[in-house]
Amino acid sequence: MPSGSATRYQTRARELRSRGFPLPTSHASIRKNKPMRNRNRFAQKAFSVLLSLALILPGCGGGGGGGGSGRAPDVFHNKAHVVAGPNQTVEDARQAPAIDFDGTLHIGAGVEPDRNQLGTTSEHGDAVISSGHVRDGAGRDAVVAFFSQFFTDRKRLRTFWRQPVVVRVARGTSAAHTDLAVRAVQILNAYLPRENRMIFSEIPSPYGADLADVPAGEIHINFGPFGEQIPENFRTHRGVSSTDVRGYLDVGGVEITSAIASRIWINTNRLHQFTDEANITSMAHELMHSLAFSGHADSARYPEALLRSRSPRGFSRRILGPIDRDVIAAAFAYPPGATSANELGPWSSTSFHLRGDMDDVSFGVASFNGLLQPWASGPRPATNLADNQALSGSASWTGRLLGFTSSSESLAGAADLTINLATLSGQIDFTGLEHWGVNAAPGPVGSGRTWNDGDLRYSVIVRKNTFIQTGGDAGEVTGAFFGALHEGMGGVVERSDMSAGFGGTR
Ligand SMILES: [Zn+2]
Repeated sequence: MPSGSATRYQTRARELRSRGFPLPTSHASIRKNKPMRNRNRFAQKAFSVLLSLALILPGCGGGGGGGGSGRAPDVFHNKAHVVAGPNQTVEDARQAPAIDFDGTLHIGAGVEPDRNQLGTTSEHGDAVISSGHVRDGAGRDAVVAFFSQFFTDRKRLRTFWRQPVVVRVARGTSAAHTDLAVRAVQILNAYLPRENRMIFSEIPSPYGADLADVPAGEIHINFGPFGEQIPENFRTHRGVSSTDVRGYLDVGGVEITSAIASRIWINTNRLHQFTDEANITSMAHELMHSLAFSGHADSARYPEALLRSRSPRGFSRRILGPIDRDVIAAAFAYPPGATSANELGPWSSTSFHLRGDMDDVSFGVASFNGLLQPWASGPRPATNLADNQALSGSASWTGRLLGFTSSSESLAGAADLTINLATLSGQIDFTGLEHWGVNAAPGPVGSGRTWNDGDLRYSVIVRKNTFIQTGGDAGEVTGAFFGALHEGMGGVVERSDMSAGFGGTR
């Protein structure tokens, strides 16, 4: 459990529970809860009055190649190759996204600030530590303006009554298509409060099931030619999301609109006409529809938004556009039953950042309206680690970690990675973990208070130029090797009680 005060998202979850929404308290409990409860029983037990039933069906990414009012601005025309790391399987959905930005490997959310936007704080070993506030959000007015379009129809802003949402791909989905879906989930999860991150079930869904047969709290993803379930006018679209939405009066008389279940079709007749990157963007766009947003953002007004009617064909170094980052987090910050965009609580346009630099490895974490987003970045190696002829036996990297506790207290410690080149497995240890105040610049090593028992230890396995946890303490570790000869390493470690970026050199 988080050690600090509850986040606004945890508070909202408690509020929903108190109003009769049977929300699970953890990822573990939703797994125990299978099979999902029958939707009619849910309706009878949880709510006093059923107001309405709506099926919302936005289709997306229609039309031919480029052009039109929705043409992506130049910011998206980079050469990002999203195939960093191995083919991602369902088991990898908990990991952070790994993206190769034309030679720069990046782990985690695209929130790294320029070093010159921050003030240098101190040195931790060989790492230069900087910190500071950066205005990198869209701002409250922009967020309220964005949400206003969803509140014009009272059915239109709705998150799932059951959090976290369970995603499944249909039985028979190819490894390549599963990879697209997993990468889209990894990207959106890097921008969602931990409590609201999607869980990818290893149990496939029936192919082509009716929306009415999708269990409550689930999103089913089908890859296939558009068939009988999809209206004729959606046949040229790249994807379509349909969501079962219900409005209820809760026992206090407050009207709550909630998504019950959702289904996505990705049109395989069109998929091959686009890059993997464009298809992942399109997948993430459909998932945003399923998670919270039924409508589209105006392309002229929000050219960087993933939620534009023609989703961008790729993403910038920020991965999600500034307005995307705000609205995906803000959707879960609205109180249940909100009827106006103005009901969004306090919303800051600035993030507090911690950043570490060691040679050309950089890493850090952003705290943005309570959302913690770690990252790490460095040059792509010339070969996979296994093919580095200069390395044999075991290799070690030493460095530092920078993070926040779940209550946004600054956190730092040592990061030590050792890999056995023969087995491509090893160990990463984070030791001497200490914390300071909320949004405080970390002091010199040894000046903080010991965090928990002071260390976290994980066994890891190497996959191409990335590594992930295979055991050890709770949490997820996603890392990469950096530099032509794997001179550097870095990544992120995420738990319910902390989130951190780390980096080191050999
Ligand atoms: Zn759409």
